[in-house]
Amino acid sequence: MFFPAAEYNNTTRITTINTHLFKTEGKVLVQPGWLQVYGKKAVVGDEENLVAVQPNETVHTQEIAHHHLETKPPARFSEATLLSAMETAGKLVEDEELRSAMALKGLGTPATRAAIIEGLLTEKYLVREERALIPTAKAFLLLTLLRGLGVTELTMPELTGEWEHKLSQIEKGQLSSEQFMQDIQHITTTMVDRAKNYTADTIPGDYITLKTTCPKCHQTVKENYRRFTCTSCDFSISKVPGGRAFEITEIETLLSQGELPMLDGFRSKMGKPFSAALRLNNEYKLEFDFGQPSEDQLSQEHDFSDQTTLGPCPKCNSNVYETTTTYVCEHAVGAEKSCDFRSGKVILQQPIDSEQMQKLLTVGKTDLLNRFVSSRTKRAFKAYLIKKDDSTIGFEFEARAEKKPSVTKTTTKTTTKAKQQKNLIS
Ligand SMILES: [Zn+2]
Ligand SMILES: [Zn+2]
Repeated sequence: MFFPAAEYNNTTRITTINTHLFKTEGKVLVQPGWLQVYGKKAVVGDEENLVAVQPNETVHTQEIAHHHLETKPPARFSEATLLSAMETAGKLVEDEELRSAMALKGLGTPATRAAIIEGLLTEKYLVREERALIPTAKAFLLLTLLRGLGVTELTMPELTGEWEHKLSQIEKGQLSSEQFMQDIQHITTTMVDRAKNYTADTIPGDYITLKTTCPKCHQTVKENYRRFTCTSCDFSISKVPGGRAFEITEIETLLSQGELPMLDGFRSKMGKPFSAALRLNNEYKLEFDFGQPSEDQLSQEHDFSDQTTLGPCPKCNSNVYETTTTYVCEHAVGAEKSCDFRSGKVILQQPIDSEQMQKLLTVGKTDLLNRFVSSRTKRAFKAYLIKKDDSTIGFEFEARAEKKPSVTKTTTKTTTKAKQQKNLIS
């Protein structure tokens, strides 16, 4: 003898306590069916089973507890999890036909998936941090652009699904390859047209307002597709100087401090990668800082009459003074320059305070400074700055240092003669 099936009501119950609604989901056993064998009767109140209630039955509130919980974001993709996500990308596709067309394909092929990820890393859409792959500002910028242009096909796995689906239709003779190619041509033309015809201001996106105010007029600065722009004056800087997109923390620092220390990942117009610091010049324009004096600094007249000198210029023995960005010989500024001594306040990420500059100019050597970072190897190193015999500034390393960090370029104008400098390094 067979027992009939057990029957449940799937129940969603909303309980009202004061003005608050509480949702309970569960099921109510209405026909025990074969469960009778195990002694279950209809309406058993255990965890998954809800007690049956009558409409408008009142509840007795026994206890109210307040739990503070936080949701966690999903884990970052690692290379392994991203590979498998690409393999099973079809699962993300809602349309059933497209999903089944992608079921065995995924994004890319087994042979190309790893190379696609490498490409994203090389082009700085992703960076590796330990095992995690972190999308960069550049990646978000691209997606904002594609969504803003209405070219969402390129941001979703559906496109691959659709093509796979059509290819299988061609296989079965349900679609002609000419029709397919016509569609592709149409999509491509539309995309290129849209990309050509947008203007930066018209791209909609989820843009932020910066916490730091405009350095020029102290009003609010907002992001648009291409730039960070003041809402009040003409202050505006690119979001991607040298092909590298700002992180939000970086732009906040740049606006509040007027400069950013050495950053990687810029590319020249020829596509060559380079590192540089960034600064806002006196006209609040963005400049790369390779340690060179800015045009402003060169043309500016300086009045040092109310300042005390830090010491004698190594080149011409005149007075050296501190400006907002550099230490400079009094004869290396203004219209009639006769000297070119100038030294950055930050050299290879090591801040040089006026006390150290004073030691350098008067005694010829700073204290041992330990926050230099080689711009080539990215390694931190300790060194003394010294005034050399040829009147330039160079590095001197601790005598017992086993490893000699190589110094390719410093941010002082006066230490550009790298070869000479190396010979003199002890
Ligand atoms: Zn402004
Ligand atoms: Zn001088």
